[in-house]
Amino acid sequence: MSVKKIGILTSGGDGPGMNAAIRSVVRCAISSGIEVAGIMRGYQGLIDDDIIPLGHRSVSNIINRGGTILKTARSKDFKTSEGVKKAVTTLKEHKIDALIVIGGDGSYRGAQDLYENHKVPVIGLPGTIDNDLCGTDQTIGCHTAVNTALEAIDRIRDTAHSMERIFVIEVMGNHSGYIALQVALGAGAEDVIIPERKFDYDLMCKNIIAGNKKGKISWMIVTAEGAAKAPDVARTIQERTGLETRFVVLGHVQRGGVPVEGDRILATRVGAVAIDLLMQGLSGKAVGVLSEKINVVDLPVACKRETDRIDEYLALMKLLR
Ligand code: ATP
Repeated sequence: MSVKKIGILTSGGDGPGMNAAIRSVVRCAISSGIEVAGIMRGYQGLIDDDIIPLGHRSVSNIINRGGTILKTARSKDFKTSEGVKKAVTTLKEHKIDALIVIGGDGSYRGAQDLYENHKVPVIGLPGTIDNDLCGTDQTIGCHTAVNTALEAIDRIRDTAHSMERIFVIEVMGNHSGYIALQVALGAGAEDVIIPERKFDYDLMCKNIIAGNKKGKISWMIVTAEGAAKAPDVARTIQERTGLETRFVVLGHVQRGGVPVEGDRILATRVGAVAIDLLMQGLSGKAVGVLSEKINVVDLPVACKRETDRIDEYLALMKLLR
């Protein structure tokens, strides 16, 4: 199948670097003679027929901008068979031969549905801060999210130390503990609570009481949003140790901001590969980077949760206690 026109959309939660991926796809497509249609607000834009042409200049000066120029959404309509049918009709009406989806595992499942059940050629690019996709070491947005959280925690550390307090900091990550682990290691936190492992609250409180007796005055405990909520953890610590404990929920600040180098480069690389794959007649694939090398897997494989990094990280955490 020769590809003359592609559609591109961003879906699910936004992540810094999505714009760099859009830019890469558009520029590589155009230089290969392929027309590009930008679909607004993820799958919802296919249902609503909200589509704009994207040219070389449309993606000027966006490589350094957070968010996504195509907007993003979580489309409930797309999870219905009528919604998917409408999306497929829109693709046909616009003569879009193939679709590039930038998003997380939910977006990949939607892409797989289009590919498997409606014969739409699709390529997935890993766009999520959660870094919870298989077949790639990192996802677009996770580098920046970790850096943003680290900057915030460095500020909290100053006050935690000066006021002699325990701070519990909640970071994003959905069902994944990746951001929490990275942030805990980078910030030198005393403990980390992640969804992938059962957490020993007794041991943490015992360590805090013992440390306090030896003169330790401040603690940083990082919790992943999918594991435990910061207010609950702070209440538990304060009740069991009698020490004043505050909490901070970092929330959406982690989603915004200028993408760091890691996200821009990853986005640019996988975007170029997506066009290459389509030109080779390949689809139903997700592009990632493993051990610095481009890695391409089937979409369902990419949707499996990646958990094998966790043990090594937790071994490192023991050093910090
Ligand atoms: P993030 O990791 O940032 O949350 P995500 O892509 O996992 O991103 P979701 O909200 O799970 O975000 O999915 C985005 C959209 O993909 C959904 O709103 C829906 O339109 C579509 N989608 C999700 N799951 C499915 C599914 N099983 N089948 C079809 N479409 C789906």
